[in-house]
Amino acid sequence: MMRVFVVNSGSSSIKYQLIDVDSAEVVLAGLLERLGEDGGDAADHEHGMRVVLDRLGDEAASIDAVGHRVVHGGSAFTEPVLVSDDVVAGIEAVSELAPLHNPANLAGIRAARTVLHAVPHVAVFDTAFHQSMPAEAYTYAIDRAVAERHGVRKYGFHGTSHEFVARGAADLLGRPLDELTLIVLHLGNGASVAAIDSGRSIDTSMGLTPLQGLVMGTRSGDLDPAVLVHLHRVAGLSVDELDTLLNTRSGILGLTGHGDMRDVTDAAAGGDALAEAGLAVWAHRIRHYIGAYLAQLGGLDAVVFTAGVGENSPALRARVIDRLGHLGLHVDPFLNERAARGPRIISPAGEGPAVLVVPTNEELAIARATAALVG
Ligand code: AMP
Repeated sequence: MMRVFVVNSGSSSIKYQLIDVDSAEVVLAGLLERLGEDGGDAADHEHGMRVVLDRLGDEAASIDAVGHRVVHGGSAFTEPVLVSDDVVAGIEAVSELAPLHNPANLAGIRAARTVLHAVPHVAVFDTAFHQSMPAEAYTYAIDRAVAERHGVRKYGFHGTSHEFVARGAADLLGRPLDELTLIVLHLGNGASVAAIDSGRSIDTSMGLTPLQGLVMGTRSGDLDPAVLVHLHRVAGLSVDELDTLLNTRSGILGLTGHGDMRDVTDAAAGGDALAEAGLAVWAHRIRHYIGAYLAQLGGLDAVVFTAGVGENSPALRARVIDRLGHLGLHVDPFLNERAARGPRIISPAGEGPAVLVVPTNEELAIARATAALVG
């Protein structure tokens, strides 16, 4: 029996779960918030990890290994790795690519290695699963020298989730993952699509950063890159203002005024024209990627919905799939709408690619990856 302590460390928060890997049982879970702020849960990450250890009490002694979520592994990390001083330096070296996330992840790693020094620590990267993309998929068509000097290419994110969900889809279909072509739609607050061939990611919608691709809760997704230059020139927006605009005031929030998809679907159902128009843009972008990835994959066994929106909104799943009948994609209204939680098929039996819902569980995926490495 192996117990993994999973840590997801943000700039001002630490999320944690103690997971029994064999049974997939969450022994305990918690969250520390507003680190470093007045009235916050702890003064810094190391203090935070000591608070967590206190909360764990006797359970702390049962921890066999610690698994850390790390957002950006650059081109250096293609799979989960045992944390060493070299690995810490390697994560630091790619921090420029994720200035908000990697330093926060590292603060958590450093704190946890100090406080839980007797057990192995493993880093699991959001980008790693997509390192299998071929060069033609990850290359941006800009000056090669500039791109190489600054690490500018597509990396992709949500990799831990895409891989977990692809395995779940194979289990559900009762077929080996290495025989399947899948399009996984991770539709949460952040959202991305992955084209998965034989268990390997061959393309994904997020890029150098998690801003590219789909219309998200507050992020724009794809744009003409000249929009930035244009807004700088005609509206005088600074680099920081553009960053804030595209990351926090765009997407569904920017289009509809609502940041939560439940509010948007409610508003649209009540006749709100802006909400309806925002959902139309959202679904159009997803269909755009389904078409593109179908062409890249050259065949399709299943489209798989996951994450907050993908798992919980029959109406939005139907909105995406209902116009794809010409590709053989259909949802069965009864199967789509029935209240269910686990992995399930929502397309009618018969010909054509299946449509699935497979709940994601990034913490369990990190726990399993950690156990596989140290076990
Ligand atoms: P995640 O980032 O995966 O936690 O997903 C969060 C998003 O899922 C939020 O925008 C929620 O509004 C959305 N969500 C959760 N349940 C539903 C639902 N029943 N209908 C529409 N959106 C939902």
